[in-house]
Amino acid sequence: MESLEMDPEMLYPEITVEVGRVTLGEENRKEMTNCSLKRTENSKIIQATCALLNSGGGVIKVEIDDKNYSYRCHGLGLDLETSLQKLLPSGSQKYLDYLQQGHNLMIFVKSWNPDVFSLPLRICSLRSNLYQRAMTSTVNLGASNALELLREKQSRAQRGRSRVKELHPQKALDQYTQEEEDTRLCASEFLQRDKLRYKEKLNFTESTHVEFKRFTTKKIIPRIKEMLPHYVSAFANAQGGYLIIGVDDKSKEVFGCNREKVDPDLKKEIGNCIEKLPTFHFCCEKPKVNVTTKILNVYQNDALYGYVCVVHVEPFCCVVFTEAPDSWVIRDNCVTRLTAQQWVTMMLDIQPAPCNLSTDYSLHQISPASSTPRGTSCPIKVLEFKRALQQRLFPVTWEETQFQPESLCKKLFSDHKGLEELMKTQVNEDTNSPGIVVFSRSWASDVGLRKEHHVLCDALLIAVNRPLVLYTILTDPAWVGGRVYARNTAHQLKQKLGTLGGYTGKVCVLPRLICLPGTQCRPAEIPLRYPQSYRLANKDEMEDLLQALIVVSLCSPSLLSDQLGCEFFNLLIAEQCELLSESLQETRELFLHCFPGTRKTALAIKIMEKIKDLFHCKSKEILYVCESDALKDFVTQQTTCQAVTRETFMRGEFPKIKHIVMDETENFCSTYGDWYLKAKSITHPKMRGAGSESLHRGILWLFLDPFLVRHAARSGLPPPSAQFPRKTITNGIHCALEIAMVMKEEMKRIQENPHSNVSPDTLASFREAAYEEAMCHQALPGVFESETNLTTEEMAKHVAERCHSLFQCGYLPKDIAILCRRGEDRRRYELALLRAMELFETHGATKVAFSQASGVLDAHIILDSIQQFSGLQRNIVFGLSPEGTLLEEVHKLRFASRAIKHLYLLYEKRAAF
Ligand SMILES: [Zn+2]
Repeated sequence: MESLEMDPEMLYPEITVEVGRVTLGEENRKEMTNCSLKRTENSKIIQATCALLNSGGGVIKVEIDDKNYSYRCHGLGLDLETSLQKLLPSGSQKYLDYLQQGHNLMIFVKSWNPDVFSLPLRICSLRSNLYQRAMTSTVNLGASNALELLREKQSRAQRGRSRVKELHPQKALDQYTQEEEDTRLCASEFLQRDKLRYKEKLNFTESTHVEFKRFTTKKIIPRIKEMLPHYVSAFANAQGGYLIIGVDDKSKEVFGCNREKVDPDLKKEIGNCIEKLPTFHFCCEKPKVNVTTKILNVYQNDALYGYVCVVHVEPFCCVVFTEAPDSWVIRDNCVTRLTAQQWVTMMLDIQPAPCNLSTDYSLHQISPASSTPRGTSCPIKVLEFKRALQQRLFPVTWEETQFQPESLCKKLFSDHKGLEELMKTQVNEDTNSPGIVVFSRSWASDVGLRKEHHVLCDALLIAVNRPLVLYTILTDPAWVGGRVYARNTAHQLKQKLGTLGGYTGKVCVLPRLICLPGTQCRPAEIPLRYPQSYRLANKDEMEDLLQALIVVSLCSPSLLSDQLGCEFFNLLIAEQCELLSESLQETRELFLHCFPGTRKTALAIKIMEKIKDLFHCKSKEILYVCESDALKDFVTQQTTCQAVTRETFMRGEFPKIKHIVMDETENFCSTYGDWYLKAKSITHPKMRGAGSESLHRGILWLFLDPFLVRHAARSGLPPPSAQFPRKTITNGIHCALEIAMVMKEEMKRIQENPHSNVSPDTLASFREAAYEEAMCHQALPGVFESETNLTTEEMAKHVAERCHSLFQCGYLPKDIAILCRRGEDRRRYELALLRAMELFETHGATKVAFSQASGVLDAHIILDSIQQFSGLQRNIVFGLSPEGTLLEEVHKLRFASRAIKHLYLLYEKRAAF
C-alpha cells in the first residue's frame, strides 16, 4: 500500500493528490536514463488517476521538474499518455483535463462513470489480476472480461451450482478420433506414473488444460513461485488443469529438474504460495483452492537424475487472483490499493447479503432508528421522476434569475435587510445568463456535514456557461472556520451530485464567502481556476445538473426536500391512480383497502377525475361522501365534484348522482340509517317491475383503512367477508421513511396483538417484507421524534421551539398540524401553546394563530383533535397525547397516517390524583 501526500489546505474544494516532482514533456521523458524513477513517476500518476476516478474525481498536483516546461509546447510524455490510454481506453479526454499553473501541472480527474453502451464497469482498474486460459496461453483478463467472469460465477453460486465438477473422461483413448479432452486424460494418467525416463517423449501436448514448463535456471523455486499463481488462477477459474514442470514444451521431452537444484521442500513451498492467493467467494461453502502436487522421479540409466513436478489444479467454485487487483481508491486521504474482496464488491455493486439469514440478518435489516438505512442510494422511484420534478419545480427559462425556495428567501430577506440586494449584485457579477439560486439554511447539513451557527445560509448558483457557485453567508465575518466550511461543503456537494445524483458530466462547485450587509467585510478570495469544460455548456447540461440536485436534495431532509417530496408523492399517487383506473370499466363496485401511509384521500380525489373523463359525465353526477366536515370542505376545494358528509348524504336526495366515491369509511357508523344500501340504490338502481336488469350501472368505490376501523360492528360496512370485489393497496407508501417505519411497527404490533376492529383478513394481508420493500422504493427521508413524560407546559414549549426553528428554515404555519386525541383537550393545549409561542415572537415574527380542522385551507397552524382531522394531511404533524392511554397503537397509527414528512409524538405525564 503506497500512500501519497495530500494537502488538506489546498484551495480547490476537491480531493487533491500531490505526487511531487515529476519530469514532464515528450522529449524530457524520452531522455530519462533512470528507468526505475521513470516507472515510479508513471505509476504514481496512473495510480492517483485511477484512485480519483474511483472516488468521485479530484485534482492531481504535479510539481514540474523542468523550469522551462510548458504544457502547450511539450505535452505530457509518451509513456504517461500510453498508460493513461490503457487505463481509459474509451478516451481519456472524457475524464482528464490539464491546467498548468506556474510550476505546477494540475490534472483534473472527473469521476468515473460506467459506460452505458457496453458492460457497465462501476470502477476502473489497471489490471484485474484474474487469469484465464486462452488455448495454450494464460492471460490477465481485461476489466470487461473480468466482470463477465465474476457475473458468471456469481450467478452459478446463486443457482446453487458453485460446485464445479471436473470433467473426467469416461472413455479410453480412441485411435481414430481425438479431441482436446484427450490431453487431460493423458495428463491424469501421467500423474499416476511413479517413474519417468530422462528424455522420454510424451504422447500428448499442451492444451487449454495442460501446460509444460522447463527451467534451466539455477533458481528454480523463485521461478516457480513467480509463474505458478498465473496458472493456478487461470486453471482454477476455468475447468482446472495440469502444470507440468520439467517437460520441454516444444519437444515434449522429459528433462526433469536436476535433483541438486530442487529444494526438498518444493511441495510445501508450492502449497504456501497457493495458500496466499486472494480468493473471492460467492458461495456459502467457501472451500479452499484445491491443488495436488506430485513429484515424479526421473531416471537416467537407472540412476535418479531429477524430478518432474506436476501441479494438478482443480476447478474452483468462485474466483482466484494472482494478487490483489491493480485498482485504487482514495481512503483516509491516501491513494490506497483495493483488496480482492473490496474490488469484487465494488465491481458487482454487492450489498452485504449474508448467506445465513438467521445469524446476520441484522446487517441489512432496516433499523427503526432515525438513521437512514439506505446509505448512499435513493429510492428507485426518484430516478424515474427526476425529470418530471425538475420540469415542474426548476424549469430552465431565459427570464430572470430565480431565487428558490420562495418561502425561505422571503423569510431571509425580510429578517436581514440588504441581503436581497447583496445577493442580486453578487449573482449578477457572477453570471450574465439567468440562472437558479437555491438557498438552504445549511447546504452543509443537506449534504451530510455539520451545520455551523456562524452561517446564516448557503446559496447555490446554477447557470449556463458558469461553474456552480456556492455562496456561504456568514453572520460573523471574523469566524476563522469559514473557508474550511465553504470548501468542505462545496466538495461534498460536488461529490453527491455525481455519486448520488448521477450527474455524469464534469462539474465543480466554487466556494464563496459573503458577509451580511453592515458587517463591512469581504473575505479576500483567491480565484480558483478550472478548465473550461467544467462549466455547464448549455440548457441540457443545466437540466441534467438540476435533476441531479433534485435527487441529492430528496435524499436528506430539508425544506427543499420536503417541497420536492410533496410533488414526488403527487406524481406517485397519479401513477397509482392511473393503474387503478384501469379497473373502472369492469369493476363498478369495489372495496379499496388502503394501508396507512397510502394517502387514500388523494387517491380518491384523483379517481373522481378519472371517472369523469372515462364515463364522460358531468361533475355534478359524481358524489364524494366522507365523515367529517373538514374533509368535505377540503375535497370540495380540490375537485369540481360534489362532496357531502355521511350525515348530509343520509338526509338528502341525490337524483342526479350516478357515481359515488366513499372515503374514510372506516370512521362511518350506521347512525342516520344504512348508508351502504342507500349508495347502492343510487349507483345500481333497480327498475320497478322490470325484472332484475339494472337501469344504470354506476361506480361505487369505497375507500377504507382496514387498520383504523373504529367500530367494526356498527360501521354500516358489510362484514369483511362480504367486502368483495376488493383491492388491497399496500405498496404505495407516500410519506417519510421514518413515519412509514412507525406505521410498520404499529401494524406489526396490531398483527401480534389483534383487537376486534381489525379483521383477520387484514392482519393476514400485512406483510412486513413487502411493506419494507415498498418503503425502500418510494419513501423519502423525514423526521420522527418522540418525547415522553412531559408536563403540559413542557409539551407546549417543545412544540413552540420546534415550530420556531421550522419557521426559520422557511416552513410556513400552513405546513403544520398539532393534533390531540380528544376534542375537549384542544382548549387546554391552545392556551399553553399560545403562551409558549409568544416567547419566540420577539422580533417582528408573524403572530401565531390556530385554526380548527375546518380551516385546513387557511394559512394557520391547525390545532384540533385527530378525529376532526381525519382524512386530512399535513407535511408536519405534532401528536399530543396523555401517557398510558388504552389503544395506544391505534392512536400512534392515526397520528402517523396524518403526517407526510415530519412526525413529532409528545406524551404528557399522567396527572397525579
Ligand atoms: Zn466459492
